[in-house]
Amino acid sequence: MASNYDVVIVGGGIGGLSLAAALAGKCTVALVEAEQTLAFHTSSRSARQLIPSYGPAVVQDLTVRTLEMLAERDAQAAEPILTPRGFMLVGDEDTVRAEASGNMHAITHDEAMQLCPALNPDSFTAAGLDNGSFGCNAPLLLEEHRQTAEAAGVDIITGAKVHSAQRLGSGWQLGAGTEGFQSGVVVNAAGAWADELAVISGVEKLGLQPYRRTAAIVNVENPLTPETPMLCAADDTFYFRAEGHQVLISPSETVPSGPEDAKPYPGDVEALINKLNTVTTLGIRSVDRAWTGLRTEAADGIPVVGFDAEAPGFFWLAGQGGYGFQTSSAIAELAAALILGEVSVDSPESRTAEQLAAVRWSIRR
Ligand SMILES: Cc1cc2nc3c(=O)[nH]c(=O)nc-3n(C[C@H](O)[C@H](O)[C@H](O)COP(=O)(O)OP(=O)(O)OC[C@H]3O[C@@H](n4cnc5c(N)ncnc54)[C@H](O)[C@@H]3O)c2cc1C
Repeated sequence: MASNYDVVIVGGGIGGLSLAAALAGKCTVALVEAEQTLAFHTSSRSARQLIPSYGPAVVQDLTVRTLEMLAERDAQAAEPILTPRGFMLVGDEDTVRAEASGNMHAITHDEAMQLCPALNPDSFTAAGLDNGSFGCNAPLLLEEHRQTAEAAGVDIITGAKVHSAQRLGSGWQLGAGTEGFQSGVVVNAAGAWADELAVISGVEKLGLQPYRRTAAIVNVENPLTPETPMLCAADDTFYFRAEGHQVLISPSETVPSGPEDAKPYPGDVEALINKLNTVTTLGIRSVDRAWTGLRTEAADGIPVVGFDAEAPGFFWLAGQGGYGFQTSSAIAELAAALILGEVSVDSPESRTAEQLAAVRWSIRR
């Protein structure tokens, strides 16, 4: 006998969990996750930085709204989600200018060196700074969403991969492991597997592409101070930031992948360390741990949020790319309003809807 819900969310990463928390108490919800633990894939592998000047304009709007919501939450909480941490771009004039937008402003070479004395001064000629950027306590945010959802009666089922989904009357019937679910709405928050879930649901896929991105925590001879901004090469060849006495580094690669439990390729982290040991005075000595996650994007790089126009009750919450945390609260707010019928594609009434009107509300319109 299938359990019955208004909404079944498929995927227990930041996308699915933040929506579960936003819907909690407003309708009956189940969240179904294939892995035994929540946020096993990309959502536990991020760099934990929220950068208002990063991404296309609509992503920047979503980020500003998310930061506003998290700041409201922090004002009432004992432990903050947000910690101020600037974001600095370095490179040559043209590349920095091409990458800089929104909240990012140009700073002088001297200012850049003062903010990050670990840089080799000959390794860049231009710099930009986004001072409205924050570090994010991602594990706390994920855990709080889980608690909010469960406290309001959301059923969270782990270790249950959705293997079948079909239309049944005016809703959906899903099979996951040995369990069955019926719901009015199915939410596709399956990350790198979003297209795969569409296909098993008989819904046309959108061509969402997962891209590899590796990161590592390394031990260094000269630690960064906690105030040092996150440092990113404008030509996308590396970024790094302080992680206590250690440093988080990434080669910023964008290599296409299938949906999988991605792992670092041999040699990638070592090559990055060689590079960083020439463009900085960090003195990287050893690798503590390294990982790879998948950033999944639509062709235009804009998150896919809305009901599928050709599959009634099939809601996409995917394609967050490298912005899944920094857009999460705003996307969840918008998605919940759309699912509950509080705003519609054609008549965006709420402030959020107006702000986010450029998001593709509905697919294939
Ligand atoms: C190295 C790296 C650095 C990053 N840094 C940042 C950053 O600083 N700031 C930022 O905002 N973003 C960052 N990101 C991006 C961010 O991590 C992602 O956008 C976000 O985690 C995506 O969340 P998600 O919930 O869509 O996907 P996921 O976390 O992958 O969750 C999807 C879930 O769906 C489950 N699933 C799939 N198919 C099924 C099925 N059939 N049945 C049941 N469950 C299923 C999967 O098991 C998975 O747990 C980074 C990403 C990487 C890789």
